[in-house]
Amino acid sequence: MIESRIKQTVRDVNDFPKPGIIFKDITPILKDPGLCRDITVALAEQLSNVDIDVVAGIESRGFLFGPSLAQLLNVPFIPIRKAGKLPYKTIQQSYDLEYGSATIECHQDALLKGQKVLVHDDLLATGGTVVAASKLIMQMEATVAAYSFIISLDFLHGRERLKPYGNEVFSLASY
Ligand code: IMP
Repeated sequence: MIESRIKQTVRDVNDFPKPGIIFKDITPILKDPGLCRDITVALAEQLSNVDIDVVAGIESRGFLFGPSLAQLLNVPFIPIRKAGKLPYKTIQQSYDLEYGSATIECHQDALLKGQKVLVHDDLLATGGTVVAASKLIMQMEATVAAYSFIISLDFLHGRERLKPYGNEVFSLASY
């Protein structure tokens, strides 16, 4: 089963990036090409009933599986990045962090009005990042079709935070 294979492979790193946090390190997954393929197929299968025009991947670990997922779904991939990384004109969205704030952006021509966007990232924690991505997508007059993660940390209640956006939240492994 894909969930147990993911959980057996992901590595817990204590006190990263700061004391008290147990970080789920997904890099061991990348050393197993068969598991990578199976994850991509499983992500696509979960979305078989969702109408998707574009996959938007969130920097940086959303870029690991986002493009292969988009290829399998036969739709374009667009990167959502931290401010200052994209070369062309951008649209921005800021959001609050525990200390301070952050800004994400995408190219102003990344999406067309009315497009249905799958938001993909490696992991759902509090949901702050994908809420900001959703606002960015809505700023561009596109809509969120669904959210897709490899891992969701359900004890941090990110799914509840996404409820107001009214879209389905998919993940392959939950904690
Ligand atoms: P959120 O905004 O609190 O949901 O945090 C999700 C973002 O932080 C995603 O972009 C994740 O890649 C990253 N993140 C948070 N915790 C972890 C973790 O334990 N492992 C890997 N990435 C994490």
